[in-house]
Amino acid sequence: MFRKILIANRGEIAVRIIRACRELGIKSVVVFSDVDRNSLHVRLADEAYPIGPAPSRESYLCLDKLMTVAKRAGCDALHPGYGFLAENPALPRACTDTSLTFIGPSAEAMEALGSKTAGRSLARGVDVPIVPGTNDPIENLEEARALAQRMGYPVLLKAVAGGGGKGMRLVSADAEFESAFRDASSEAMNAFGNASVFLEKYLEKPRHIEIQILADAHGRVVSLGERECSVQRRHQKVIEEAPSPIMTPELRKRMGDAAVRIARAGGYVNAGTVEFLVDTHYDYYFLEVNTRLQVEHPVTEQVTGLDLVKLQIAIAAGHRLPFAWESITPRGHAMEVRLYAEDPENNFFPSPGKILSRRAPSGPGIRLDEGVYSGWTVPMDYDPLLAKLIAWGNSREETIARLRRALEEYTVTGIKTNTALFRRILAEPDFLRSEIHTKWLDEMLKRPHAAPDTDSHAADAAAIAAALWQVTHDSAPTSERTEQDSRWKLDGRNRQLDRMP
Ligand code: ADP
Repeated sequence: MFRKILIANRGEIAVRIIRACRELGIKSVVVFSDVDRNSLHVRLADEAYPIGPAPSRESYLCLDKLMTVAKRAGCDALHPGYGFLAENPALPRACTDTSLTFIGPSAEAMEALGSKTAGRSLARGVDVPIVPGTNDPIENLEEARALAQRMGYPVLLKAVAGGGGKGMRLVSADAEFESAFRDASSEAMNAFGNASVFLEKYLEKPRHIEIQILADAHGRVVSLGERECSVQRRHQKVIEEAPSPIMTPELRKRMGDAAVRIARAGGYVNAGTVEFLVDTHYDYYFLEVNTRLQVEHPVTEQVTGLDLVKLQIAIAAGHRLPFAWESITPRGHAMEVRLYAEDPENNFFPSPGKILSRRAPSGPGIRLDEGVYSGWTVPMDYDPLLAKLIAWGNSREETIARLRRALEEYTVTGIKTNTALFRRILAEPDFLRSEIHTKWLDEMLKRPHAAPDTDSHAADAAAIAAALWQVTHDSAPTSERTEQDSRWKLDGRNRQLDRMP
């Protein structure tokens, strides 16, 4: 096992990895930029080293500086977290050159799976359905336009190196194609240093369902089941849950098989996620592979009882996965909300600043993966994620009730946070019935928002109490639905969606 791990990240994910290291008896080393001198990850790590000024290009993204710290501190492995350099093949290569073990896939596997077009070709090669579109970056605008006409609008232009919804443009008509192409390319260039874009048919109202996989270096690849991330604002995940309310054991098996085939074909080792879109007919389409730990990994941890970060470390140290896929069945239900320093009343504008006070929620079924503390100043230089609040329970209903209760307990003063958004979503009838899709939240936010009335709260409470009664009298250990239940639900969803503006 490793003795000392360098964590090439900051915020809640650095804290999460420090905690795993401590439980494993491994020393943790972190780096920090000038504005992160007093950050929680610096306070909790065994050792911390300055790495430069606030802009990430001059600090967290500097390979040379990271390697210098690793050597100086005597680290034997590096964990990239998510974001920053986590999906850049230059990082595992630099680790190899520095005799550090990279806790993640090889540079080759990242290249084979990390770019969206490479991933599509690979998925097609192992008979996994992909969203119709181009398999290579667009080089000839007229050819791409002709394909868009043949597929029919709307279509989506997407950055090959994309992430976080950047470099993506929806094109609804032929006349918009050229300017959308230019916008997508230049946004992709700015965000990823790579202007390549490709074309996909735009699926109407799909659900985003992804499969968590783990692969060891001895040929065992397992699926840990799905997470549903359909609550998105502008193509960015806002709430994630496991299991997906529309999942059936059969569909889980088929999607898990598909994800495992893709991971095998790409020579993947360590934790990764294969993302899919699922349409209203339960047909799934490969979207992309994230060759790293996901922000939303805790919901999988809560329903499987596994610690994904410790497993990542064990896999990188050459250990065999100690379980087979067949032994993993999700138990209960888990849901995560991403708490941001941002102002929902002002178009979700970031709200950095000093946290004057903060009260953390706790109690049954609550987990808070946090990167902040009272008295700390949230810098304006990075993604303003404060914490991930995760609830779990016997059923989806109990989980939602716990999440609502925990959101009421969580108070932060001094900065604005998006907690009000979650209170609203968690009271929406469509959400409670899971009659949602990836555009649902954007549509909901356009509707006028009436202040919640006490009667509907009382009705919700009664519904939840009834659901809880059912759960306690149901011996099944999981909130998974049967094929028949799900079909019924999906039909209900379609009726509901038809009424939407
Ligand atoms: P990124 O890597 O930028 O996050 P993804 O390819 O993972 O981009 O897609 C993010 C989200 O964008 C999806 O969850 C979905 O909401 C939307 N999306 C992506 N491709 C399509 C598509 N072809 N049709 C409809 N929605 C899509």
